[in-house]
Amino acid sequence: MIGLSQFEMWFVTGSQHLYGDETLRQVAVNAEQIAVSLDQNSHIPVKVVFKPVVTGSQGISSICLQANNSPNCIGLICWMHTFSPAKMWIGGLSGLLKPFLHLHTQFNREIPFDQIDMDFMNLNQSAHGDREFGFIGSRLQLERKVVVGHWQEASVSAEIGTWARAASALLDSKKCRIARFGDNMRDVAVTEGNKVSAQVKFGYEVHGFGVGDFVAAVGEVDETAIDRLVAVYMDTYEVGKDLRETKSFAKLREAARIELGLKRFLETHDCTAFTTTFEDLHGLNQLPGLACQRLMADGYGFGAEGDWKTAALVRAMKVMGTGVPGGTSFMEDYTYHLPENGRALVLGAHMLEVCPTISRSKPALEIHPLSIGGKADPARLVFSARSGPALNATLLDMGNRFRLLINEVEVVDIDEQMPNLPVASVFWEPHPDLKISASSWIYAGGAHHTSFSQAVTTEQLKDFAEMTGIECLVIDQNTDLAAFRRELRHNHLYYGISISS
Ligand code: MN
Repeated sequence: MIGLSQFEMWFVTGSQHLYGDETLRQVAVNAEQIAVSLDQNSHIPVKVVFKPVVTGSQGISSICLQANNSPNCIGLICWMHTFSPAKMWIGGLSGLLKPFLHLHTQFNREIPFDQIDMDFMNLNQSAHGDREFGFIGSRLQLERKVVVGHWQEASVSAEIGTWARAASALLDSKKCRIARFGDNMRDVAVTEGNKVSAQVKFGYEVHGFGVGDFVAAVGEVDETAIDRLVAVYMDTYEVGKDLRETKSFAKLREAARIELGLKRFLETHDCTAFTTTFEDLHGLNQLPGLACQRLMADGYGFGAEGDWKTAALVRAMKVMGTGVPGGTSFMEDYTYHLPENGRALVLGAHMLEVCPTISRSKPALEIHPLSIGGKADPARLVFSARSGPALNATLLDMGNRFRLLINEVEVVDIDEQMPNLPVASVFWEPHPDLKISASSWIYAGGAHHTSFSQAVTTEQLKDFAEMTGIECLVIDQNTDLAAFRRELRHNHLYYGISISS
């Protein structure tokens, strides 16, 4: 459902007329070589498109306006091969609505000691040209990412690729429509938020729909489509003999009907993320479990209990992690394992809705009663997550700003079996340890709902936060609780005086 190769990053090289045609021709040849090399680099999942060298304010403004109006342009890479007086950039950058990355590189890797002359010095001026460009970015208080290093270094292309994933998620977010079936669950605070502020910051629209309209779409699903989807279930998952042969099979068909109706509804309304709530299932006889799991696996953002902020975050992280091993899922810190001697662990799960992209093996398709909600027994995929590094991220509305909070974790294998647990689950050890992680998370107001990912990196999320101008806090191996609490206090002051949403 998601592809990043449709997106473009425009490579814009700055110079000026002063150097004459011959030097400018060489600037263009060198810049194109860098752009082509980055375009072919496997770290960068989007197209890198070379644009003609800009030498004056009109050309700069023109390229920035074209970028604004190009539906597939995620942003610019700017590089000053020579000096490019930065007053020329004020108009263009002030009007630029797409994010930009400042690549501080140099065409040549080393100085040709035996040949260097003033022609060489005139052409290869990034060391000071990029400083002039950097000044105007700071003077205009523009958010941007500065990447430093030779353009053939793997770390440079990796940083550009990271930024490109974040910028792709932002472009997708601006087009995203989130369908809400039912409101936030009553009295829950952290899943609330200002939808106007969210649209200003992230561009996405949040639309409420009547559950009855969703139920009507489910009712219109034809039986042959259900036959086909149930056959897909049988091929894709471990399905027990009891489910194949008992009256529960009717419930599985009902789950397939819900999935088809939900997907059709989202497609009709052009939505790429959605929320449900088990408190409002009017006319729907099962809580959508399997449907939510499979639609998440297809790339849809999802949030339970009306949590549209997490639905949008899951979608954004699905885009960021496209094509990378590991999955991304809606998640909840559910319950703890706190042995007297041994490592403290978190069991992450939800009532049903965990995405099978994080599964270690072929998920089991099962039907069990739900102990909450009073509806028919829903179908769900049961599995455990693959071990390794991962992270949890949550988005909070702090009143005057959004806060993105990230905790790096290690998913671990456990020896014990859980034969009576009828949902998908993940065991993780949070960094730096449960005590500091949970204290920091709680002081920061972090939610119980998160977007969990084995594919997305902290750096991608930090880039995303910076290009949207929101607060970002990270709990990782280096977190010191006292310093983290100081950062919270300093940020409170900073956002109180500088930015409001
Ligand atoms: Mn929940």
